[in-house]
Amino acid sequence: MSSLGCLWNRSRLEAYTDGALEAPAARAVTAHVERCPACRTRVGRLRRLRDFVSVEAGPADDPDWTGFWPAVRRRIASEPARPAVKDAWWLPFWKPVWGHPRLATVTAALAALLLSFSFWPGQEGEVPVAWAGPVVVQDVSTADPGGSVMVYSTPERDVTVIWVFASESTR
Ligand SMILES: [Zn+2]
Repeated sequence: MSSLGCLWNRSRLEAYTDGALEAPAARAVTAHVERCPACRTRVGRLRRLRDFVSVEAGPADDPDWTGFWPAVRRRIASEPARPAVKDAWWLPFWKPVWGHPRLATVTAALAALLLSFSFWPGQEGEVPVAWAGPVVVQDVSTADPGGSVMVYSTPERDVTVIWVFASESTR
């Protein structure tokens, strides 16, 4: 039989099964599940589902980044530099990083740095706006085989931004 307690607990059962709840919430759910056969059944079903999925899928591997930067370098060398103007020029660079915890941490710090550039005051009387001018990727070379560097510049604002991706071994 469902109760008000079930209503509160149902939405948390999935996180509970994954061990993703904060300690106080986990204790509350444990107490409820011990008393409530309906929720206990659900937890049992979720556990079986989780075990099934983890056996079938296996742990996710880190993406292979070895071919990424050499390919970027080749394109810079082979294609004439042209400013890329897009709605959000950084989005294609962010997407491959998103979901990659190690890079995401580094990039989040750099994004904060970029943001400070983005709100750099413009010319006199100009309201500081998000930086959306043409951007030229100049270089991604680095002597460090484990690290990657990307150098951007924007001719309009005369600003150069350098991204440094450090690998685990160099930190
Ligand atoms: Zn219940």
